[in-house]
Amino acid sequence: MTPPAGGGDPEAPAPPAERPPAPGPGSGPAAALSPAAGKVPQASAMKRSDPHHQHQRHRDGGEALVSPDGTVTEAPRTVKKQIQFADQKQEFNKRPTKIGRRSLSRSISQSSTDSYSSAASYTDSSDDETSPRDKQQKNSKGSSDFCVKNIKQAEFGRREIEIAEQEMPALMALRKRAQGEKPLAGAKIVGCTHITAQTAVLMETLGALGAQCRWAACNIYSTLNEVAAALAESGFPVFAWKGESEDDFWWCIDRCVNVEGWQPNMILDDGGDLTHWIYKKYPNMFKKIKGIVEESVTGVHRLYQLSKAGKLCVPAMNVNDSVTKQKFDNLYCCRESILDGLKRTTDMMFGGKQVVVCGYGEVGKGCCAALKAMGSIVYVTEIDPICALQACMDGFRLVKLNEVIRQVDIVITCTGNKNVVTREHLDRMKNSCIVCNMGHSNTEIDVASLRTPELTWERVRSQVDHVIWPDGKRIVLLAEGRLLNLSCSTVPTFVLSITATTQALALIELYNAPEGRYKQDVYLLPKKMDEYVASLHLPTFDAHLTELTDEQAKYLGLNKNGPFKPNYYRY
Ligand code: NAD
Repeated sequence: MTPPAGGGDPEAPAPPAERPPAPGPGSGPAAALSPAAGKVPQASAMKRSDPHHQHQRHRDGGEALVSPDGTVTEAPRTVKKQIQFADQKQEFNKRPTKIGRRSLSRSISQSSTDSYSSAASYTDSSDDETSPRDKQQKNSKGSSDFCVKNIKQAEFGRREIEIAEQEMPALMALRKRAQGEKPLAGAKIVGCTHITAQTAVLMETLGALGAQCRWAACNIYSTLNEVAAALAESGFPVFAWKGESEDDFWWCIDRCVNVEGWQPNMILDDGGDLTHWIYKKYPNMFKKIKGIVEESVTGVHRLYQLSKAGKLCVPAMNVNDSVTKQKFDNLYCCRESILDGLKRTTDMMFGGKQVVVCGYGEVGKGCCAALKAMGSIVYVTEIDPICALQACMDGFRLVKLNEVIRQVDIVITCTGNKNVVTREHLDRMKNSCIVCNMGHSNTEIDVASLRTPELTWERVRSQVDHVIWPDGKRIVLLAEGRLLNLSCSTVPTFVLSITATTQALALIELYNAPEGRYKQDVYLLPKKMDEYVASLHLPTFDAHLTELTDEQAKYLGLNKNGPFKPNYYRY
C-alpha cells in the first residue's frame, strides 16, 4: 500500500499473533468471504490525514467540488456488524441529439477521458443514429428502467461478460464464498465507471452479494453497448452508451440518482463526476449515503480537496492508491497494452527501433519493459533522480529529450505532466517518427501547437494522424495525444480484476463498518485487504505461498496471517 503521505495515521493495531478461532455459523459477512475459515483479520482502513502530498502529486488533476451553499448535512451512521475478511492467503461528443437539450454549464472533467478500459466496441452500431434517449425499449421482463443503445445486443454482451468472468477469479470467488451470506444486503449502490465486460462482472458480483445497483458511464466513449444491453436485460438499471453527448452524460447520471422510491446509500465513482452531481443537485441524499469509493487519480484528488475544505460529509475510500491498484494497474496494464496499441495503429516492428519513454514511474516502467523485451533500444527521460537511477540500473540510457529527439523512431509520454513534448521537439523529430501518450491527460504532448496553418493533417486510419511539415516531413500522431491504450487497444482483464476486487471490498468495508470507525475523511484500504485481494488471484498461477513458522513470525514480529509489511513499505 502506498504509505500515507506526510506520515499519515497508521492502521489499527494488528490482531494477536495466534490464529483466532473459526467464526461460527452466521458470524457475519466475513465468514462467507473467508477462503479459509478461522482467520479473522482486522479491517480498519488507514486515514490519510495529510493530503498535501496527494495534491502535489496530482496537481494537474480535476477541479475542486463545491458543496452547495453549505447545505450538506452529515450522514447519520447505522451501527452494523463489523465486516471481517479472511486474512490468509476531449473533448466532448457534440453530436446533436434529436430533441433540443439544455447544455449543462459544467464541462465533463478530465477524468471522463482518463480511462484505462477498452475503447473497442464488439459490434458496429454506428448505422443507428437515433439517440437512445429517444427510443422506447424494454427488456424481456418488461422493464424499461434503463437507457442503452440497443437492448437487442444483450446476447452478444452476455457472451463477452462470460469471457471476462474467466479472467476475474477473485470476483467469482467472492460470489461463491458469499453463498447464503449477503454482506451487501440492503446496499443501494449508484455507480459511475467505465461500462465494460469487466465492470459488468463487478456489478453482478455486487448484486450477488446483496446490493441493488444503478449505473452510468464515467466516460462518454468507453461504454461497450453490448455489455450495457446485457446488464439491462438482466435487470440492472444502466444508463450509458458509447458516444454520449455532454448533456447525455449528465442526464444518464441523473437517471441513476433521481428515482422515485429509491435512494442510494453507497457511491462507487471513477473520476468524481457522480459525487459532484449529488453534491450539487441532491445534497440531502448524503444523509443516507454511508460512503464513497473512488478509483481514479482525479476523483481522489477532488475528495482530498473536499476533505481539506471541511466539506466532505461521508467517509471515502481512496482505491487509486491501494497497492493492488497502483502497483498492478499502472505497471502491468501498461506493460501488457503498449505494444498492442502501437501495433494496431501502425503495424510496426519493434526490434531495433529507437524509443524514448518520458517518465519512469509505474507506467513508464511497464512500457520500457515491454519494448526492451521486443528488442527495441530504449531511452528514458526523468526529472526525479531516484526514478532516473532505477532506469539506469534497469539498463536504460537516461537522456534529455533534446539529445535523442532527432534520432528516435518512437516517443512515448508517461509522466502525468504537461508539455513534455513541445512544438520545438516535434519540429526536430525525424520523418515518420511516431508520437503517443500513455499518461492521464492529453496535455503531455503539445498537440495544440500542431494545429497551425503551415502544417497539414491527414487522417490515415482511425486514431492515426499524419502531421506534415512544409518540407514533406511527417510525424505519426496516435490518438491525438490521448491515452494510447484507452483509445487504440484493450487492457488485460486480469489486471482489472484486481482493481475491481479492491473496489468490491472497499464497498463491503464501508457499508458494514461500525459507527465511528470512519469519519468524514479519505481513507486507504487496510493492508490486510490488499493482501487478501492479492491472495485471491494467486490460484490462477498455481502459486504456492510460503507460510511463516511460529518461530519466524516471532523473529520478524509479524502476525502469521499478515499484514506482512509496514505501511511505509514501497513494494
Ligand atoms: P508516476 O508518478 O509513478 O510516474 C510519472 C513519472 O514521470 C515520475 O517518475 C516523474 O518524476 C516523471 N516526470 C514528471 N514530469 C516529467 C518530465 N517533464 N519529464 C520526464 N519525466 C517526468 O505515475 P504513473 O503511475 O507512472 O502514471 C503516469 C501517468 O499515467 C498518470 O497520468 C496516470 O494517471 C496515467 N496512467 C495511465 C494508465 C494507462 O493505462 N495508460 C494506467 C495508470 C495510470
